[in-house]
Amino acid sequence: MYSIGIDIGGTKIAGALVNDLGEIISQTQVPSPAQSAQAMEDAIVGLIQELSAGNPVRAAGVAAAGFIDAAQSTVYYAPNIAWRNEPLKDKLEARIDLPIVIENDANAAGWAEYRFGAGKSFTHMTMLTIGTGVGGAIIASGELFTGGFGAGAELGHLRVQPNGLECGCGQRGCIEAYGSGRALLRYLREETGNPDLDADQGKKLLEIGDEAAWRAVSTLGNWMGIACASLSAVLDPQVYVIGGGVAAAGEHLLKPIRDSFLANVSAKGYHPEPEFRIAELVNDAGVVGAADLARKHAEKL
Ligand SMILES: [Zn+2]
Repeated sequence: MYSIGIDIGGTKIAGALVNDLGEIISQTQVPSPAQSAQAMEDAIVGLIQELSAGNPVRAAGVAAAGFIDAAQSTVYYAPNIAWRNEPLKDKLEARIDLPIVIENDANAAGWAEYRFGAGKSFTHMTMLTIGTGVGGAIIASGELFTGGFGAGAELGHLRVQPNGLECGCGQRGCIEAYGSGRALLRYLREETGNPDLDADQGKKLLEIGDEAAWRAVSTLGNWMGIACASLSAVLDPQVYVIGGGVAAAGEHLLKPIRDSFLANVSAKGYHPEPEFRIAELVNDAGVVGAADLARKHAEKL
């Protein structure tokens, strides 16, 4: 049996047919009609029909950026899509004869890493994804933790600096303002002394291993380590999985995170040390995670 995973991005919708080992059997994508809720629904239905044609499929999962309710049914709010209190699960199940689950995209990616990637040998995992912003996912005792209302694990909005820099969420001092791709560009501009440096130029500096670029990554890692130290006080994960484009920096990113974590963790020297690992599934995490959450849901029915 297979499951289908759909990952809705700002510019494209990716879909994949996935087996129970998390392997992609086939995949496809279409442009994302983000401005119209109806066109988005039609596109998702089309992808699921295309991927399931002629294949034994038990369920489909849909991952999207936004607040999803704890029942994995309703999109309360999606920042980049025209969905407000959208009962997406009911609408899709009315059109497709499959059980459907809806999940936040960062949670779906975290679930994929836990099941098939960098977190697979652990039961308590915390994932931080460094993209334009900072995303998060929590696995506790082998289960995805989403909070009482479904809006938990928004780790990018953990406060690391009271009255600090403004964050897109309307508050100040969130780790997203210090540990995101946007923050990295700020550090790169400071380190190179070039206030006009753009994201592509920054990426090049990282690719060639420029010293100033590593210092910028180190600054970002230092902030991430501070966030992880606080997260360990609450969640005590065995492993932190770091994802997103910046994670390609590998040990240049992990070392400052680890050093900063050890310097900031409570009961320093006595708190068991978690592992810090780079995410393994990269671009496929969203579809694979959504498909496997759908499998899990269907097996309980
Ligand atoms: Zn914030």
